[in-house]
Amino acid sequence: RAGQAPNRTVHLFDSEQDGAQRDNLRLLSELRGAIDERRLIFHAQPKFGADGSLWGAELLVRWPHPAGGFIMPGRFIPLAEQSRMIFDVTRLCFEAARDHMAQIREMTPRAGLHFSVNISGSDLSDPRFPEMLHDAFGDDPADLALLELEITETAIIEDLERLIPVLERVRETGVRIAIDDFGTGYSSLTYLKKIPADTLKIDQSFVRGVLESERDAILVRRTIQLGKDLGMDIVAEGVETQEIADWLVANGCDRLQGYFFSKPLPAPEWRELAADRVRRLTPDFTASE
Ligand code: C2E
Ligand code: MG
Ligand code: MG
Ligand code: MG
Repeated sequence: RAGQAPNRTVHLFDSEQDGAQRDNLRLLSELRGAIDERRLIFHAQPKFGADGSLWGAELLVRWPHPAGGFIMPGRFIPLAEQSRMIFDVTRLCFEAARDHMAQIREMTPRAGLHFSVNISGSDLSDPRFPEMLHDAFGDDPADLALLELEITETAIIEDLERLIPVLERVRETGVRIAIDDFGTGYSSLTYLKKIPADTLKIDQSFVRGVLESERDAILVRRTIQLGKDLGMDIVAEGVETQEIADWLVANGCDRLQGYFFSKPLPAPEWRELAADRVRRLTPDFTASE
């Protein structure tokens, strides 16, 4: 485009596509600033076991907007992935998970609450990844066993041969791997057999339909069975009603997450919930909050 006449360039910039591209570039440079100044925050959405006990939380990034509210991950994570800035977002998320773990350990070492972090395929294939993991969580197996990495099946499959050995090495440290949004990608049996994972997370688009669509119900029931037969824990995301929660538990789901139980929570609200869980485990515990 550099060799084009100026009036032509102006014309191109005015086109809708270039406008969107310019917006994205501006957003990315603002994201750089937000990362460097550590202005990204992480909400924690609780996950519960089939028996109703608190299992842990998934950390979900939020970018506070100067005008109030948040820029949501759906807007900037795909851009961050294209620009490799995602690695720095993941680092901040690891640090948030580590801080949460430390706070809970301080309350009681017995709480056993897990933290799930969403990672991208490019995080895993980055040569700095093992070191970043180690920097944040060290090598205490008790801590590593409380960390779960969520990665979409699509991201894994796009770079299967390279990522499988990395996933295997990560799992050897005791960190759990969850396949996120399962059912929205290729969902082939071959891939399911190949991907080393501990957890299968059924996408909310299927979960939502189980009571209304016999087809969704069949797919979810079979997926739960298949995942379990392969030795995985099954998590349902996007659980919005009691009825759906009951159906999932009756059909063998191991963990549930969704607005019916809780929205993603700001850190102080999450800590209150965690402290309540700790109180039940240790009746003589009194949280200082
Ligand atoms: P995801 O990991 O599949 O997370 C689930 C999304 O569904 C979250 O949206 C969550 O807030 C939302 N959700 C949870 N329960 C319900 C429910 O009952 N009903 C409905 N309708 N929605 C529910 P969110 O926070 O906007 O995140 C969107 C996606 O952005 C995530 O999908 C994940 O892929 C990505 N993401 C979020 N945080 C991070 C991050 O720190 N790093 C990376 N790499 N990706 C992230
Ligand atoms: Mg996730
Ligand atoms: Mg998901
Ligand atoms: Mg999703």
